[in-house]
Amino acid sequence: MKLILLGPPGAGKGTQAQRLKDKYAIAHISTGDMLRGEIREKTPLGIEAQSFIDRGDLVPDQVVIDMVRLRITRPDCENGYLLDGFPRTISQAETLAEFSTVDAVINIDIPCENLILRISGRRMCRGCGKAYHISSYQDDRCESCGCELYHRDDDEIETVQRRLQVYREQTQPLIEYYSRKGLLIHVDGDQGMDTVFENIVKALGL
Ligand code: ADP
Repeated sequence: MKLILLGPPGAGKGTQAQRLKDKYAIAHISTGDMLRGEIREKTPLGIEAQSFIDRGDLVPDQVVIDMVRLRITRPDCENGYLLDGFPRTISQAETLAEFSTVDAVINIDIPCENLILRISGRRMCRGCGKAYHISSYQDDRCESCGCELYHRDDDEIETVQRRLQVYREQTQPLIEYYSRKGLLIHVDGDQGMDTVFENIVKALGL
């Protein structure tokens, strides 16, 4: 099964991706996590990507396309994969169509005003990338792997506003793009995590 998770920053894609990965035994491919890994390891790719990410802009298409193209050849993708944060532009989607099929695109919808609140209180695990919100989890360590939680630099308010603008301009058109292809599933993301997950599973019908 090959799935795409679509939605604005802070919609809960990462949280749902973890659950979908476990339920369907498919690989979770988050381009954001992969890029943060490259930055952490100070690779040439990471160094190139960092300035874009810090500004809240998208990393150039070719960089992420090459990353994903290579990533899906790994053995854990044999049973399928879930793309989280890719594609983010029409051009990325068109290139993806040249090298992979897609079974469904899940669009997690959430009103813009809730996103800022969600993202500004978000902390992520340095180890496994799991996201937590300060209102519901105050510990400084991840409950899954025990690693330290941190506030992403690009989760600062000014950068978040830029990311939302970039989302509206460059990523939102993908909703129409995949809807025309008959692949789109809409899920209301303005509900509890368990309800969102149940609705995704129901809509997938698997
Ligand atoms: P979120 O979904 O919370 O916005 P991600 O972790 O998916 O965050 O991505 C963080 C940043 O990484 C993005 O703001 C962007 O700069 C970069 N990035 C991730 N995926 C892509 C992509 N497919 N194309 C271009 N840039 C990307």
